[in-house]
Amino acid sequence: MMKVKPKIKKVAWGKVVDLVAQIVDAGPVRKFLIKKADKKLWQGIVEEDQMGLRPAQELKYAFVRNLLYTTDKHLRRGIMSKEVFHKMVKVFVRNVFVEDISERDIRREERKDAVYPCYLVLSPTGLCNLHCPGCYASSSSHTNRSLPYSIVSRIVREKKEFWHSRFTVISGGEPFLWQSDGKGIIDLAREHDDNFFMVYTNGTLINEEVARQLADVGNLTPCISVEGFEEKTDRRRGRGIFRRIMKTFEDLRKEGVPFGISVEATRDNWDEVTSKEFLKFYFDEQGAFYGWLFQYMPIGRNYTLEEMVTPEQRLEMFTRNVWAIKEGGYNYIDFWNQGVMTDGCLAAGRNGGYLYIDWNGNVMPCVFIPYFVDNIYEVYKRGGNLNDVICSTFFREIRRWQSQYAYGKPPTEQDNLILPCPIRDHHKDLYKILKSHSAIQPSDEAAREAKEDPLYHENLVSYDQLLRQVIDPVWEREYKKCA
Ligand code: SF4
Repeated sequence: MMKVKPKIKKVAWGKVVDLVAQIVDAGPVRKFLIKKADKKLWQGIVEEDQMGLRPAQELKYAFVRNLLYTTDKHLRRGIMSKEVFHKMVKVFVRNVFVEDISERDIRREERKDAVYPCYLVLSPTGLCNLHCPGCYASSSSHTNRSLPYSIVSRIVREKKEFWHSRFTVISGGEPFLWQSDGKGIIDLAREHDDNFFMVYTNGTLINEEVARQLADVGNLTPCISVEGFEEKTDRRRGRGIFRRIMKTFEDLRKEGVPFGISVEATRDNWDEVTSKEFLKFYFDEQGAFYGWLFQYMPIGRNYTLEEMVTPEQRLEMFTRNVWAIKEGGYNYIDFWNQGVMTDGCLAAGRNGGYLYIDWNGNVMPCVFIPYFVDNIYEVYKRGGNLNDVICSTFFREIRRWQSQYAYGKPPTEQDNLILPCPIRDHHKDLYKILKSHSAIQPSDEAAREAKEDPLYHENLVSYDQLLRQVIDPVWEREYKKCA
């Protein structure tokens, strides 16, 4: 007899948000409301959404579920203030997650050829007070490379207007050093108070007063870099930096501001930054709300392939990270290994993806692809706008690669999403695009050198072949077989 699949009622996300908004003052029914919201999340993400492979959908669900339970835990501990909670629900959950996504879906229906990125990474300054070896941005304390406030604010305004995107990631340099026309990063958050900002920072410039201001605006979360425990963090960032960061965490907790950690895994520290002790310390004890784990990319200052995690280490990182999300309940995402959670590579302004603008105004497909065609100053000078920069041949070619590889394909036809990255995991393909257009320029000297170095490319291609050998069988076993 043919099995009839039970019909699932479509989840109304607005109602789920209403439910979540009530938890803070729910008293004895708080637990019940959370369980109810959890059930809806499972229904909406795993049962109803057929866009991804089932294990991928389960992982996405686990991440959002973890956000829900962590929020509850942090409210109980008093390290997330009620005011910040309400602002986050309104701006991050309702505006960014519910309204922006559904509005973009409507626009896409109307204009099928248009693309609507979901967010943008913006580095307003290349200036930094630290000098970490291997900095992807080659930041320095002796630079005047910064964007004016008016340009940054215009970009934020245009992305909302054109793409219904109210989520912006700020990177650097050190964003808390950025000053222009007497304004800085907190003024930007205050001016665009229906937008949400996540700011990558070394954390050393956040003191009690800054933490108070962050609690007051409520729509900006700092994501602070650590390299492991004290020894490894100080070795890379400078003596005393770990203790300085601990003080920053304390100030943020006191003011009820949710913060995250940003971690770069190298061949040297990968074991430490994926260990259970690390998770326990930063998330359970220090109260990090979320964390991003980036694997070292051979770009930027003194780039080298020797720092990259080996394919075997990468596999072990994958296994540990799946555990951390699904079993451990941590909001800690290994950026490359969890490509299933983003339906693959997010670069080049693809639908639901992003693009990057640096302190010189250069527009890049991704923070980790340091090459550009357009410069936002030039675009604005000739009367253009933000929409123009996502139409370049460079960006289109990367989007074409994404569609051929996985994005938008039926789940069973997608290629390995544990290896989603064109510049790192499929270097040969990205290099071909870089070589085929003379208009594509490197964003700095390191990127120029890398582009012209045949050995660099050869070694990355060999690395990718090994990756395939080690990780393809896992993809087949863990994801494809479950289709
Ligand atoms: S190019 Fe690589 S790092 Fe950038 S979004 Fe795509 S997968 Fe991620």
